[in-house]
Amino acid sequence: MREATTIHFVGGGPGDPELITVKGMRLLKEADLVVFTGSLLDEKVIEYCRKDAEALNSASMNLDEITGVMIRAAREGKKVVRLHTGDPSLYGALREQTAILEKEGVHYAVVPGVSSAFASAAALKREFTMPGVTQTVIFTRLEGRTPVPEAERLSALAAHNATICVFLSVSMIDKVVEELLKGYSADTPAACVYKASWEDELIVRGALSDIAGKVKEAGITRHALIIVGRAIGDDSQASLLYDKGFSHGYRG
Ligand code: SAH
Repeated sequence: MREATTIHFVGGGPGDPELITVKGMRLLKEADLVVFTGSLLDEKVIEYCRKDAEALNSASMNLDEITGVMIRAAREGKKVVRLHTGDPSLYGALREQTAILEKEGVHYAVVPGVSSAFASAAALKREFTMPGVTQTVIFTRLEGRTPVPEAERLSALAAHNATICVFLSVSMIDKVVEELLKGYSADTPAACVYKASWEDELIVRGALSDIAGKVKEAGITRHALIIVGRAIGDDSQASLLYDKGFSHGYRG
């Protein structure tokens, strides 16, 4: 028998309220309590909640307060949604919350969402993987308060020349570029997408050599992804996938 789920961790998507999943929207509509991550969620997503639902911004709450309020509500039989930005599996501090729920014996489930990485690819109208260019995408960040393991320094990751999406780091773009130049050539296409899928979305395009200046000129200091790699440039090469000689069995 499936266990009764009382708390749903829901990926709220990148901003555009139409980019939440149908399931996420339904859960928001049914919820008695919604605890949402403050800064990067459009209020329009919160508007899916019932008028009489309790909606709490977790920006000013600590971990124990967040899990405490959710557990209390769940034990009262209420439907609880913990709303994350993008997809909960990326920089969502999900595990520290679910570990407490597991310890307390509270059932939960996770509903995926559209990450800002994918909303940014859509904004750029590009693929992260391209035949003959790269078949690999790296999601990473510069070290901030959260340390990054030594083997994952941007300079080390840059050696792969894969498509790289750098989260949480636009305020340190000079450092990002300096590190990436240890592996990518200066003419590698680079972009910064500010608030992908929001009404005030802003796209800055350039190369690794000039992207930092352009981003600063645009005044972007947060809420943005830095994406670097030849796949987001103007090159294109036909894939074998839709090649006339390629068997249909491989398309999927
Ligand atoms: N779980 C989220 C990431 C949370 S970390 C996701 O899957 O997208 C917060 C960082 O994500 C921000 O610093 C920024 O780098 C990025 N981000 C979140 N929403 C964004 C958006 N709409 N446009 C561009 N970057 C965004």
